[in-house]
Amino acid sequence: MIVLKFGGTSVQSSDWMDKSLQIAIDQLHRSPLIVSSAMATVTNGLVSISELTGKGQYSEAMSELDRIKELHFTTANAFLTSTNLENTIDELNTLFISLSSLIKGLCLLQECSPTSNAALLSYGELLSTKLLSGRLTEKGIPNTWIDARQVIVTNEEYDSAVPDFNLTGQKVINNIRPNPNHIYVTQGFIGATTKGVTTVLGRGGSDYSATIFGSLLNVEEVQIWTDVTGIMTTDPRLVPNAMTIDSISYEEAAEMAYFGAKVVHPSTIQPAVDKRIPVWVKNTREPSAPGTKISFQAQGEGIRAITGKKNITLINISSTRMLNAYGFLAKIFQIFEKYSTSVDLIATSEVSVSMTIEDKTHLHEIIDEINVFANAVYENDQAIICLVGKKLWMDSNFISKVFSLLSETPIRMVSLGSSDINLSLVVSEQHRETTIKVLHNELFHGN
Ligand code: ADP
Ligand code: ASP
Ligand code: MG
Repeated sequence: MIVLKFGGTSVQSSDWMDKSLQIAIDQLHRSPLIVSSAMATVTNGLVSISELTGKGQYSEAMSELDRIKELHFTTANAFLTSTNLENTIDELNTLFISLSSLIKGLCLLQECSPTSNAALLSYGELLSTKLLSGRLTEKGIPNTWIDARQVIVTNEEYDSAVPDFNLTGQKVINNIRPNPNHIYVTQGFIGATTKGVTTVLGRGGSDYSATIFGSLLNVEEVQIWTDVTGIMTTDPRLVPNAMTIDSISYEEAAEMAYFGAKVVHPSTIQPAVDKRIPVWVKNTREPSAPGTKISFQAQGEGIRAITGKKNITLINISSTRMLNAYGFLAKIFQIFEKYSTSVDLIATSEVSVSMTIEDKTHLHEIIDEINVFANAVYENDQAIICLVGKKLWMDSNFISKVFSLLSETPIRMVSLGSSDINLSLVVSEQHRETTIKVLHNELFHGN
């Protein structure tokens, strides 16, 4: 069995859905499970509907809903016929009727909570997969549409839910069985609590759904089909001559995802590692291009990729009492733990600690509590530039090259990731793009 995950652009129209489905049909003998995202623009549309309902702006919310309806009905009409078209339109209508009443109710209450947000966002994937399943039926391919909320069981963090692998495992195995010449179609991104309340796994979470299904079904491989030819040496939108990496370790891919490479969701790798399942990242536009293989396969040392992560806050903590004081760092981390705020990077000296966080929800409380026993200051609008590759620190020529390339750029912090596969720098947001461009140009194309 294999899992094929299609991202939003891969299902953005009837033509793209056809390209994606053809990729699955070509592998019919491998018992495919399709895990699909919402059509491109739809989740963003639902996010804006959620914001509008929170402000009670009903007519604005409904006009965005009309756009989403139009997109799905146009697609259905473009590639479905007769009773299959009627049945699919009925199914879309059922979803749109419940979505409209949800929007109406939320507007009346002016509600925009994580629970309602998740409920709204889940419709994108429910709708797109109805179209995919309808199209397979049109082509005469036996298929089963699975509601992912019936199988992916999560905790109650509604808009960034964490799956329960034990509970999910049972349901997945009961509902999905290898079946050659048949295709299962399900949604990425969505799940439900044990009480059946809809949850979502966080933006971009369909990649994660794909490896959750892949791991629980112990599939041969997971294929992530997207709009680029694989994982590249940096974001090709920023650096057009970025190159595709043909093979990368789980560790390196996870590091890249965590430090900003949007191409795969940061949680995607873990379920695959546990079962040693290879994950391919491939381009729907160019199915024959090899793409990137993520696996255990040992890689050479040296630089593999550069990523950038925006909206970072840098916190500098200093204290004269820190000198030799055991328990000082523990005290600081207890505060971060209390506010469920994770620290990305950390660098310490005898009298100061610098760290970065992404989630600023409790920034002020954290700073106030640290200030009781030390001096904490923070700066927003920072960026992490992460150089991914094994043993970069050990290569003194490499290190000196990096720092001489950045001699004009104020570097706010330097950190070696605990995993020994990254060298991270913090620069202010205004320097992010040029830093990545300069480093990429010299480290990948220079001599
Ligand atoms: P999908 O909708 O298929 O999930 P995403 O937009 O989430 O696609 O991810 C693909 C995008 O990730 C690419 O279009 C590219 O701009 C971006 N990206 C960022 N960093 C990288 C990288 N290192 N390699 C490839 N793509 C990257
Ligand atoms: N549709 C969701 C999003 O746009 C999930 C995904 O595409 O991975 O975030
Ligand atoms: Mg994505």
